[in-house]
Amino acid sequence: MKLGVHISTSGDLIGTPARAAEMGAETIQMFASNPRGWRPTKYTPKKAQEFRAAVAAAGIDPVWFHMIYLVSFGTPDEEQREKSILATQQTLAAADLLGATGVITHMGSHKGLGFEQALERIKDSYTRALAESEKSLLIMEIAAGQGGAIGNSLEELAAQFDVMKGHPRLAVCIDTCHALSAGYELRTPEGLDDFLAKFDSLIGLDRLVVLHLNDSKNDLGAKIDRHENIGEGTIGYDGMRNIINHPKLAHISGVLEVPGMDGKSGPDKENMDRLKALRQ
Ligand SMILES: [Zn+2]
Ligand SMILES: [Zn+2]
Repeated sequence: MKLGVHISTSGDLIGTPARAAEMGAETIQMFASNPRGWRPTKYTPKKAQEFRAAVAAAGIDPVWFHMIYLVSFGTPDEEQREKSILATQQTLAAADLLGATGVITHMGSHKGLGFEQALERIKDSYTRALAESEKSLLIMEIAAGQGGAIGNSLEELAAQFDVMKGHPRLAVCIDTCHALSAGYELRTPEGLDDFLAKFDSLIGLDRLVVLHLNDSKNDLGAKIDRHENIGEGTIGYDGMRNIINHPKLAHISGVLEVPGMDGKSGPDKENMDRLKALRQ
């Protein structure tokens, strides 16, 4: 498994791949624009070329984008949904331009109206979001089981593929903290085998392209999304070793989104070192 970090550009897009490589990252995830606002970042072809060169020079491959947190694809709030579609169009286009493989996104909430009721809106949102770009994947991230969230189970992810008739640019990200929180036992060899078999039968394992490798502050089925540093949570070193060395996951990326040793700066070299020590 390729191992890497979520990293902030800190206003220096071109310097970002080298900073990630210094931590030991082999793959990176980043926001393409400020995650707390709707305003897209404009990328010129020249800037994109410089970024691609910096990625190659740092030995980073692949690059992943994470969507801003404000998006909601099944919400009955039409203004928010239209903004979500536009922002996703822009981010997928930026991914194509900058050479990112895909854009990982949370799907938002159905606001208590029920998942089934949101499916037609989700279909419309994804169809239009994908229409303005050519290549990059739109990657649905499993949610942590919180009330109203879309994508709390493999069944809810599968239903979105079904309504999109298996669109070739849709894929899935499994966050280890979210999956555990949603009730999936990924820590044991038998539990992980069961989870992957279920994923394969409902969705197809070829659609699983990236993992978020996060330990969890809360235990199985807690339905709470709180990430912990590698080895310090309920997944622990044994659980994470089991996950990153599973033969069916050998070809995909694993990206850290942990709080960091100081509890606030995000993924760091220490967490990368811990992960790499677990890789067999
Ligand atoms: Zn996420
Ligand atoms: Zn999370």
